[in-house]
Amino acid sequence: MRLLIVILMLIVLFPQPAEALWKTNLEMHVIDVGQADSIYIELSNGKNILIDSGDEHDGPKVVSYLQKRGIEEIDYLIASHPHHDHIGSMDAIFESFEIDRIYMPSVKYHTTYYKRLMRLVDEFGVEQIEAKTGVKEKLARNIKMEFLAPLRKKYKSLNDHSAVLKIDHGKKSILLMADAGMASENEVVKRLDDEKIDVLKVAHHGANTGTSNGLLKKANPDFAVISVGRKNKYGYPSKEVLKRLKTHNVQVFRTDKLGTIIMKSDGKSVRFFTEFHQS
Ligand SMILES: [Zn+2]
Repeated sequence: MRLLIVILMLIVLFPQPAEALWKTNLEMHVIDVGQADSIYIELSNGKNILIDSGDEHDGPKVVSYLQKRGIEEIDYLIASHPHHDHIGSMDAIFESFEIDRIYMPSVKYHTTYYKRLMRLVDEFGVEQIEAKTGVKEKLARNIKMEFLAPLRKKYKSLNDHSAVLKIDHGKKSILLMADAGMASENEVVKRLDDEKIDVLKVAHHGANTGTSNGLLKKANPDFAVISVGRKNKYGYPSKEVLKRLKTHNVQVFRTDKLGTIIMKSDGKSVRFFTEFHQS
């Protein structure tokens, strides 16, 4: 009994000792850009990654979000694929930040947004690297990224050309599916071997064009983040996808419900915060 009292007193005097030891060295911000994508990742060595810019209306929001964090330069800019909800505000990104290099899949598109992005890459003389299966980069001491897709030069759907990115941080890993559909997802599943994924950034705003049982079984994620607009006209995320995530016991975070979602990792565990409940 006396021992129990001592233990209880220690708990009261020193609450959550693990908290002090927990040191973030990777943060992922899934910025609430409605029915679009823009994901900012910050590393402990000061380097950063920006995946997509949101759509043509999201420029001011994304720029001010990053500027508030004191960001002046983007080390790794990724244009996941040429749809407007991913590259629509790349002009604002290029005009507001110094871009070190850009990764994009080798696929052409006929829209003004795509043509404008290509012109900006040229004008600013930004190094362009093709995003495709196998392209990898060491980002920091225990952080690396690798593109798992696109594998092929040709797919029927533009979404399947999406740059799918895996980031490993110590024992933790994140899989960012962009808008990849089943053709590409099946190839990603093969590429995953038996690697567990901790955090899944769900493909295509939760559309039922991906996030199959096959992927969920193989990747076995604990958490999923969905970037999706409030009451969007497509009805995303689809009921089927949410059901599959539930069946596989995945905890889901949605930007339409929670606003910007922030994940912090120390390489051993991950924690989630929302725009309104930050640490
Ligand atoms: Zn999209």
